Amino acid sequence: MADRQDAQVVVIGAGPAGSAAAAHLARAGVDVLLLEKDVFPRDKVCGDGLTPRGVQQLLRLGIDVTAPGWRRSRGMRLHCSGRQLDVDWPALGGYPDFGLTRTRHDFDHLLAGHAQAAGARLHTGTKVTTPLTDATGRITGVTAVTADGGTADFRAPLVIAADGASARTALALGWQRDPRSPMATAVRRYYRNQALADDEYLQLWADVRCAGTGHDLPGYGWVFPLADGRVNVGLGGVPHRRHGATDLRATLREWVDQLPAHWELDERHAEDPPRSAALPMGLNRRPQYRQGLLVLGDSAGMISPWNGEGIAQAMEAAEVAAETVALALTRPPGPRREQALRHYPAELDHRWGRYYRLGNAVAAQVFSRVGYRPLLSRRIMTSPTTVDLLTRLFSQATTAPAQDGVDSVLNTVLRLVPRLHR
Ligand SMILES: Cc1cc2nc3c(=O)[nH]c(=O)nc-3n(C[C@H](O)[C@H](O)[C@H](O)COP(=O)(O)OP(=O)(O)OC[C@H]3O[C@@H](n4cnc5c(N)ncnc54)[C@H](O)[C@@H]3O)c2cc1C
Repeated sequence: MADRQDAQVVVIGAGPAGSAAAAHLARAGVDVLLLEKDVFPRDKVCGDGLTPRGVQQLLRLGIDVTAPGWRRSRGMRLHCSGRQLDVDWPALGGYPDFGLTRTRHDFDHLLAGHAQAAGARLHTGTKVTTPLTDATGRITGVTAVTADGGTADFRAPLVIAADGASARTALALGWQRDPRSPMATAVRRYYRNQALADDEYLQLWADVRCAGTGHDLPGYGWVFPLADGRVNVGLGGVPHRRHGATDLRATLREWVDQLPAHWELDERHAEDPPRSAALPMGLNRRPQYRQGLLVLGDSAGMISPWNGEGIAQAMEAAEVAAETVALALTRPPGPRREQALRHYPAELDHRWGRYYRLGNAVAAQVFSRVGYRPLLSRRIMTSPTTVDLLTRLFSQATTAPAQDGVDSVLNTVLRLVPRLHR
C-alpha cells in the first residue's frame, strides 16, 4: 500500500518554473508539496543566461542578486560577418538594467531552497510516475517513486506540472503539444577561462556555419561568462527548413575552433563533454489549464521563439499561476473556482499571445530559413536605433504604456498581431 500525503497544491518538478510557483504559493499561505525527481545540486543543460526580464522575476521572489555566485551582464556583444557591437540592456523603468548568469547547478538548488524556506514541502529524489484522476478525468494528485524506493500518493485539488521538456504529466493525460509550434535544439559546454569569465557582456554570434553543409545555422552561438571563472559556450536553433537537421556537436566543434586561439577554448580547458537538449517553444500547450492541472514552463512550451530564453518565462508564468491558484482556493470547488482558474491562460494570452504568435511566424519563416545573419547586416549594425529595437524585441523588454519612441513602435506592431487562438 502506497504512503499518502495531502496538500492544497502539488507541484511536479523543481526547476525554475516549479520552484518559483511553489515559492509564490507558500508566500501566499498555500500548503504546497514540491516533488523533484533529482537530488540537488544537479546539472541541467542550459546557457545559464538571464535577461533583465528574468532578473526582475528573481527580485519579485525576494532573491538577493548581489550575493556571491551571480555574474552581472551589462548587455550583449553581437558578432556577425567580422563585425561586433556592444549593446547595453535598455534602461527602462520597470526592468533592471542588467542581466545575470549562474550555472543551473547552483541556480536551481538556490531556487528550490528558497521555495522550501518560504514554506513549500520539498521532496527530492521523488519521481512522479502517474497522475491520479477521478471518474470525470480530473486530476486529483500523483503517484511517485520516493527517495527510499517506495511509492507514495500525493493528493491535492490542484496540480501544477512543471516537469520540463518531457512534459510527462501532460502527456500521461493525453495532452499533446501543438505540432506547429517551433521546437529547437541546442548544445553547450563549459570551458575554464578567467579573462572571458570576467567579460561584462553576453556574446552572441549570428553567423555560425553548420558542420558538413556550410549553411548558416538557423540560430546562434553564444559565450556567456560565469562567476566561477568558467564560460558557457553553446549554440542552437530551430531545424532548418531548407537543409534539415544539423549535427550540433560537430558544428560546435568547428565553430569553437574558429574563435580566437588565445581564448583557449580547447580540450585542455573544457570541463565536461558537450550536452544537448530540446527547447519547446511558442506556447505549445494551450490553454494552460484543464481539469485541475496547470502546465508551466517547458512543459507548456513557454520558451521564447525569438531568442530561446525560457527561465524568465517559466518564472513569470509561475507567478501568474500561483496568484491564480491562491485566489481560486478561496472559492469552493465547482464552477466559481473553475472560473477563477481560467484566469491563468487568459492572463498569459493577454501578456504574451501576440508576441508569441509573431515569434512563431518569424521562427518558421525567417530563422529556420536564413538564420539570424540578415538581422545583423552591416546596415542594421550601424543603426543604433534599429539594434536597440531588435534587442528589446528579442528580450521582450517592452513596456506599456510606452516610455519612449522605440516602445511605441514595438507596442503598435504587437497590437496589430492577432492573439493566439485558444
Ligand atoms: C542548451 C540550452 C540552452 C538554454 N539556454 C538558456 C538560457 O541561456 N537562458 C534561458 O532563459 N533559457 C535557456 N534555455 C531554456 C531553459 O533551460 C528552460 O526554458 C528552463 O529550464 C525551463 O524551466 P522549467 O522549470 O520549465 O523546466 P526544467 O528546468 O527542465 O525543470 C524541470 C524539473 O522537473 C523535474 N522533473 C521532470 N520529470 C519529473 C518527474 N516525473 N517527477 C519529478 N520531477 C520531475 C526535472 O528533474 C527538473 O528539475 C536553454 C535550454 C537549452 C536546452
